Amino acid sequence: MTRDPRYDILFQPLQIGPVTTKNRFYQVPHCTGMGWARPRTLAEMRGVKAEGGWGVVCTEYCSIHPASDDQLHISASLWDDGDIRSHRLMTDKVHAHGALAGVELWFGGSRSANLATRLVSMDVTSRPNGVGHPFQSRAMDKADIRTYRRWHRNAALRAREAGFDIVYVYATHGYLLANFLDPETNTRGDEYGGSLENRTRLVREVIEETKDAVGDRCAVAVRFAADERAEDDGQPIPGERREMFSLLAELPDLWDINVQDYSLEMGASRFVKEGALEPYMKWVRSVTTKPVVTVGRYTSPDTMVRMIRSGITDLIGAARPSIADPYLPTKIAEGRPEDIRECIGCNICYSGDSLSVPIRCTQNPTMGEEWRQGWHPEKITPRSTDALVLVVGAGPAGLEAARALGARGYRVALAEAGKVLGGRVTREATLPGMSEYIRVRDYRVQQLQKLPNVEIYLDSHLTPQDVMEFGADHVVIATGARWRRDVFGPKRFAPIADPATTVLTPDDIMDGLLPGGPTVVFDADGYYMGGVIAERLRKAGLDVTLVTPDDRVSRWAENTGEGWRVPGHLIGLGVELITAQRLVWFDGSSVTLACEHSGRQRVLAAKGLVVVGHRVPVDDLYTGLRDLAGDGGTLPFTLARIGDCEAPAIIAAATYAGHRYAQDLDRPVDIDLPLRHEKIDVGAELPDLWQRAAE
Ligand code: ADP
Ligand code: SF4
Repeated sequence: MTRDPRYDILFQPLQIGPVTTKNRFYQVPHCTGMGWARPRTLAEMRGVKAEGGWGVVCTEYCSIHPASDDQLHISASLWDDGDIRSHRLMTDKVHAHGALAGVELWFGGSRSANLATRLVSMDVTSRPNGVGHPFQSRAMDKADIRTYRRWHRNAALRAREAGFDIVYVYATHGYLLANFLDPETNTRGDEYGGSLENRTRLVREVIEETKDAVGDRCAVAVRFAADERAEDDGQPIPGERREMFSLLAELPDLWDINVQDYSLEMGASRFVKEGALEPYMKWVRSVTTKPVVTVGRYTSPDTMVRMIRSGITDLIGAARPSIADPYLPTKIAEGRPEDIRECIGCNICYSGDSLSVPIRCTQNPTMGEEWRQGWHPEKITPRSTDALVLVVGAGPAGLEAARALGARGYRVALAEAGKVLGGRVTREATLPGMSEYIRVRDYRVQQLQKLPNVEIYLDSHLTPQDVMEFGADHVVIATGARWRRDVFGPKRFAPIADPATTVLTPDDIMDGLLPGGPTVVFDADGYYMGGVIAERLRKAGLDVTLVTPDDRVSRWAENTGEGWRVPGHLIGLGVELITAQRLVWFDGSSVTLACEHSGRQRVLAAKGLVVVGHRVPVDDLYTGLRDLAGDGGTLPFTLARIGDCEAPAIIAAATYAGHRYAQDLDRPVDIDLPLRHEKIDVGAELPDLWQRAAE
């Protein structure tokens, strides 16, 4: 297949200062939960993106000095020679595919409490820690400013030595440089505060010094926000940013532009759709002759072309689209954009950083497994037998298993009880804001249609007897889970209503049922479903109160960033929110709650109760087959269960389970140590340490 000439513009090279990118696909800096702690895992992952065609591949935020330490979160670091060696792993892999490597030098200021390094953080003024730790920064004096500039310069030199082609000055996201720029945070009375010129002084100095240090070989990029305040909620108000930008416009080699509101810039698809930054970008390119990059969760090549042709941007910046599909550029180049695995905007990738674990992706189960398991987003080991595999259930787990098994060349039969494919994503995508989740199904169905060795059987509810008669060599059960009507007490599930009283679940709401009056949605799950169900009911005209035993509404969704928007969104719809209350009883006309802290009870009038608690695996087919085998007995096929029917979890766990099953079939897997474990190896480090101590 050949490339559609309409997309040629995306493949034009572009000069960025002293370097040239081969095309317009630019993986902007994004966190990974790997950083300094897992350099091999990280290098392999970034290398796969370069292999997939991204012209520029950047690091995550990269600390320039121990005085900027973000732990618990794992940033990258360029503090010493060891860090240079770590980054070399990445830059070599990126360069091997003709791409440029970028590094986002970072100094957190008051946003980093330096919990691990225990150094006092410094910022424009003495400020409270930006993420709530009881550590305040000290105000930087002139000597501190000089020291910081030296640290930045030295880190830039180390970046060049590590092989980077683009070095960032990071002036957004509430970190040190952003606080110097901001008139509200910068209340200094010296030449670094006050007037616009004074507030931009430090950024100017750092740009100039970075250029002086490494500008002969590296391009210098600046990350900068195009609007004035995060609180303007979708209103692009440039305010003084335009004038500020024009003071600096010609200094760097590249502008990486975003917005103040991170929950918009990186917004979950529930609230923010493709291209959301476009209105903010309108003025930027007219004020500089330097190339501009921006993001917008772009997955459509037509939109990308429009963005460049209309003069919004020169480069298509992407974090999430490059995570969901590291081969996005190659697929456009090869004339098969329909193969793009489109990001669904769930932000599970971001939860890796939030939780300090390696990044994972709902759409791309190979993300984060490139090094430790050797998985690749597009290539998979061919089958080693001509076995027939029966996959039962076509939710995310079953669809991914069938797709990956089919790609390995197995003969696959996929049986689904329902009339449509997709399982939970087909159902959940009908709920408010959730429509993009259908991409989990659509990508896989589209790929399955290309695989002649995969047969799909709809409307086929299989019993153990059906499976026995089917004649498969391997059977994998992916029959999902159903929401429970009871709640988990401190130690076990317990009923919360008389059996004669109707208690609804998200499954009932997705089936089209509605409560008959004012409703309590009791959310013990704490992720997205509680808020989404409350929204669905409110939009159906019901009075809705969302009650949660947690201290915050949609507690776990904080990890994906969508939690930042949920409470305000629900309040705006007229949903009442009550936190830290557990559910005691529902009698059909009122709900009794008890305070999590005091135990004090209260009663709310309510005609309906929807419990968004936990789920019960639909595993009767699996257990039925296991029972047929009897104790120690055998079946004429191997039997496995995956996804929610094994252990209910997030959708990313289901696609991962499906993929893992397909990868591991007919492969010797050491269940005692199934993963390569990247860690500090004391055995390898000790001799060097002893030697140094003796010197
Ligand atoms: P997961 O998230 O683990 O993929 P889902 O709940 O999304 O699970 O999907 C499970 C799918 O399995 C549903 O589409 C359901 O209709 C189907 N299913 C459940 N039991 C059977 C069965 N006995 N035979 C065939 N399909 C089944
Ligand atoms: Fe997109 Fe979700 Fe994958 Fe992140 S985890 S890249 S938001 S599909």
